[in-house]
Amino acid sequence: MPLEYPELSLDDRVAQLNKRGRFLTTQEMLGQLLEDPGCGPIALVSSFGAESAVLLHMIAQIYTATPVIFLDTEMLFAETIEYQQLLAQKFGLSDVRRITPARAALFERDSENLLHRHNRDACCALRKSEPLEKALKGFDIWISGRKRFQGGVRKALALFENEQDQRIKFNPLAGWDRADIAAYFARHDLPRHPLVSRGFRSIGCAPCTTPVRPGEDERAGRWRGAEKTECGIHFGPQGAATANVVMRDSGFAGDDWQGGFHDVEEIANLPLAETAALAIDLPNDFDATALLAHLHEIDLVRVNFPAFNDGRGFSLARQLRLLGFCGRLRAKGLLADQYAMARRCGFDEVEISPELAARQDEPQWLARANWQAGNYQQRLNPAMQTSLA
Ligand code: SF4
Repeated sequence: MPLEYPELSLDDRVAQLNKRGRFLTTQEMLGQLLEDPGCGPIALVSSFGAESAVLLHMIAQIYTATPVIFLDTEMLFAETIEYQQLLAQKFGLSDVRRITPARAALFERDSENLLHRHNRDACCALRKSEPLEKALKGFDIWISGRKRFQGGVRKALALFENEQDQRIKFNPLAGWDRADIAAYFARHDLPRHPLVSRGFRSIGCAPCTTPVRPGEDERAGRWRGAEKTECGIHFGPQGAATANVVMRDSGFAGDDWQGGFHDVEEIANLPLAETAALAIDLPNDFDATALLAHLHEIDLVRVNFPAFNDGRGFSLARQLRLLGFCGRLRAKGLLADQYAMARRCGFDEVEISPELAARQDEPQWLARANWQAGNYQQRLNPAMQTSLA
């Protein structure tokens, strides 16, 4: 599609589609895109997980030969493979493309299938992001099943997104809620993934998925115990995020910021009870000594970098740590590949906006996992590894 409308930028095209989408039902929108000869190649990317049957059924009603990309990480549950075969047959889908990780890359980077135990981001990149990027070559639009109610970085999901000026991502179910999904399953008598009845409400790879307990959110069983909430195919190198993403040693997470700016006087006058979970925003040229008397009361400090090449925020982080600040320290306004520098200066995490996220490619995002590699002190003295970790 973008190629057929050279007079429109991808941003304009996305804005146009989002506007049009407001007046159409999900089925109408899908129908228009799949049947419009002016649209370029479109693929549905499906995990054949807990709710995948909805979109698969919808596209099968329109055009059974729609390409469906199924990422088989080779770590999936056997039940998912069976479910994929069942749905493809039941819906008459004739172009399901099972995509697996590249053999040579697997051999080189995860020959024992244990990468997920010590570096999940690298494992997701190897088994999901990289194969998907290859599989999407030649497609102008891809359809994903993400929904806003799933929370985290998905809360601000748009119907259509410009994916790094390369293609458009369409999230037809963005505005659906749990009741809509359940009603569609019931109305069309769709078969459920076999693991749903065993408490799995979001289903990914077997080593990284657990059942969800009553009251927990849908995706709580994915990467349980880690702060990672996304596999990476929807932001960073493969996708334009629509909300800020927080990078930590343990992975990526949605932005949970609930603090606000407090000036020093305001902090000094806050009753102690109100400082129980205090998060403050600081400009990067702030003098940390002004907070000295209150550092122990503050839980989270976010240092705002007005530009990623303005290094004063790094000095502020060092100053805060030297003064004894032990709470969480977040940098906002940096690029993904500045994570190592931020960590070495005392930051715990880096918050990245969609605009800055789109500026860097995969290697810069993956460098996060090895941030300590550039620490010359640690290389000289391996005994420091534990204390620095
Ligand atoms: S979900 Fe787990 S096993 Fe699957 S690719 Fe990611 S880290 Fe690897």
